Amino acid sequence: MVDPRIVIVGAGPAGTRAAETVVRHGLRPVVLDEAPQSGGQIYRRQPPGFSRDAKVLYGFEAGRAGRLHAAFDALAGKVEHHPGTLVWTVRDGAVHTAPADGGAVGRFPYDALVLATGACDRVIPFPGWTTAGVYTLGAAQVALKYQACAIGGRVVFLGTGPLLYLVAYQYAKAGAEVAAVLDTTGFAAKAMALPKLLAVLPALAKGLYYLGWLRSRGIAIHEGVVPVRVDGADAVEGVVFRSASGEERRIACDAVGFGYGLQSETQLADLAGCRFAYEPQSRQWLPEADADGRSDVAGVYLAGDGRRVRGADFAEMAGELAALAALGDRGIAVDQARMAALRRGLDRGLRWGQALQAVFPVPHHFLADLPSETVLCRCEGVTVGDARRAADDLDAREINRAKALSRIGMGRCQGRYCGLSAATILADTAGEKPETAMRIRGQAPVKPVPLRTEEAAS
Ligand SMILES: Cc1cc2nc3c(=O)[nH]c(=O)nc-3n(C[C@H](O)[C@H](O)[C@H](O)COP(=O)(O)OP(=O)(O)OC[C@H]3O[C@@H](n4cnc5c(N)ncnc54)[C@H](O)[C@@H]3O)c2cc1C
Repeated sequence: MVDPRIVIVGAGPAGTRAAETVVRHGLRPVVLDEAPQSGGQIYRRQPPGFSRDAKVLYGFEAGRAGRLHAAFDALAGKVEHHPGTLVWTVRDGAVHTAPADGGAVGRFPYDALVLATGACDRVIPFPGWTTAGVYTLGAAQVALKYQACAIGGRVVFLGTGPLLYLVAYQYAKAGAEVAAVLDTTGFAAKAMALPKLLAVLPALAKGLYYLGWLRSRGIAIHEGVVPVRVDGADAVEGVVFRSASGEERRIACDAVGFGYGLQSETQLADLAGCRFAYEPQSRQWLPEADADGRSDVAGVYLAGDGRRVRGADFAEMAGELAALAALGDRGIAVDQARMAALRRGLDRGLRWGQALQAVFPVPHHFLADLPSETVLCRCEGVTVGDARRAADDLDAREINRAKALSRIGMGRCQGRYCGLSAATILADTAGEKPETAMRIRGQAPVKPVPLRTEEAAS
């Protein structure tokens, strides 16, 4: 029997454990990742020439990061690893790649494809968010983690979710001036969610530690705020927000990191033809998969945050489980007891993810009050008013129709950053439920590639 060809997209926690599992069963998988090194988002490695200590880079997660890196490094020679390689589409039983260095395009046919593509920041626009000096929380963290750069000299962090406090802590610890942390979730809302918080005790303990550490350094933390605008014509000069008591306040700064949690990277699953279902709590359309990660498309498996945001530990479990499912489905003997244990672990992960979302809800309601001129789709310069007009005047209540008529989500990011907000605005304007606006359909290439890449592949 010819060995099945197993292709894994993503070398983060999920992809690493998937690759390790496939190798353990005597096969040599292909691992593709657009990043220059394995590790994924949370355990991103520093570039060559940087020698910061793991404890400085990963904090409480240093041990886990070390174990995951060691696991991937131990696969050298046993996997066909292509770092710096973007998968820009999936079609006809193969993934198509474009290398970051502009070299030759690639095509990797598969019998089983494990998509472990992770997540990206969730953005809710507000006036001035496209000003130079405004970054997402994830981008602010990448700058620090990867190249030891701060996004500014005096930074305000804004939004909600665990990453808000973590990134503020990491910046302050690295010696950057953190002017304030502005949390859109109020103290009362968090207190009401306390029973759910107790279900995520380790995360709660870390969150309280970051909070206490920031307060003990005199860093102002405002809860229950509403962002009003970023001031500054060419670059950030300050942030204006409404406090929980309704008073408008301004904090001078030269950079802002903002974000509202994470959203799954689902475009490749879409291009592979997976069926999607609406998930009301996150308001995201997510690719469907069974407990093991099998999608409804034969041979396509989903793992990690790209399937559903559950965090790094559960991503490792999901990667291993999806790989075991892919192997078992191809007639290779796998440990059924291990699979059952992983399924139970992932059930806990589901509850963990749901609890975090309940504690740090995405403030979709901010969108209803945004001024019309606020930029919604920064790639194409489409405003909130344009989206409302698309729904109202052009009767474009479904987002792909609105995209065709207004160019929302038609640019470089393929709607990755504006799509969820745009869908909410369309539904709100039409007085419909958010899911009625649907989701932006995945289009190749999922990220920009040189024109000759598409020509070569066609
Ligand atoms: C910017 C950012 C920062 C984060 N920081 C933290 C943190 O500090 N602490 C924490 O607990 N959690 C953090 N998270 C969440 C955490 O990273 C995830 O829960 C965890 O990494 C999920 O593991 P994963 O393997 O599913 O995905 P990831 O670790 O995201 O790995 C996915 C991999 O897939 C690759 N990939 C994606 N699409 C393609 C493509 N089309 N072609 C080729 N390669 C592709 C990516 O380059 C990446 O390496 C962060 C998330 C983000 C987005």
